[in-house]
Amino acid sequence: MRIGNLRGRLAVIDERAALDVAEASGGRFGPDPMSIWSDWAAFRSWASGVSAKHGSAYAEDDLGAPVPRPGQVFGIGLNYKDHAEESNIALPSEPTTFTKFPSCIAGPFATVALPGEHVDYEVELVVVIGREAHAIAAKDAWSHVAGVMVGQDVSERDVQLRPPVPQFSLGKSFPNFGPTGPALVTLDELTDPDDLPLACKIGDELLQSSRTSKMVFPVPEIIARLSKIITFRPGDLIFTGTPAGVGMGRKPQRWLRAGEVLESWIDGVGRIRQTIVANRS
Ligand code: ZN
Repeated sequence: MRIGNLRGRLAVIDERAALDVAEASGGRFGPDPMSIWSDWAAFRSWASGVSAKHGSAYAEDDLGAPVPRPGQVFGIGLNYKDHAEESNIALPSEPTTFTKFPSCIAGPFATVALPGEHVDYEVELVVVIGREAHAIAAKDAWSHVAGVMVGQDVSERDVQLRPPVPQFSLGKSFPNFGPTGPALVTLDELTDPDDLPLACKIGDELLQSSRTSKMVFPVPEIIARLSKIITFRPGDLIFTGTPAGVGMGRKPQRWLRAGEVLESWIDGVGRIRQTIVANRS
């Protein structure tokens, strides 16, 4: 099942049509896309019995973030060996964790305004938590996940890395620095959620291309290790890290420029697209 946010209303979608959940359920669910997180299991059970085919055609630009106001947003740094190498940092023994403050979360076709000269792209698998999770074993972790999305962990490197103490969370939280979507895709739609091809490009320039099976800490390990400390709640997001090919690691370095269109995709999950524009101020 694919769950979307169409002009602020919860919908079950496919590539062509969207079924409005509040209307189709007679008001039992929605229309707020965040309303399902109080009882994901009940929503999932209801939604498995309906089809987007009975909905209406929609324009993709009308899609918003499937989870527009998550309670917590976790980011994992250096979670692909080749990206740690291009960053000249040794592989961590525990997941390197930061937050993207929730106000940066945006829809799948949101524009990104450049706040500085050194803004970078990071295509990532974004995991959406479906059940409260504290001290969860890795083998039980996927059962606490509602589904996955494509995401970009857009990063302003000057703020992120400024000495004396790097500020990962601030440098990754400018407006629209967390585009997600196009839909929340449940795990039954995926052949193998631990091995998804992910990539991003600008025009004909392929910038990143890898598979999630190359993560240093696979999704179950991230959930197991972080949940020893924090409690995941339904609707929380995890940006699970990016593979090699980011602009900062290139020679010469390659930064996002106004007018460029960044496309990011994960096979079986979908595609998001960001037009880059000059600073709004
Ligand atoms: Zn990242």
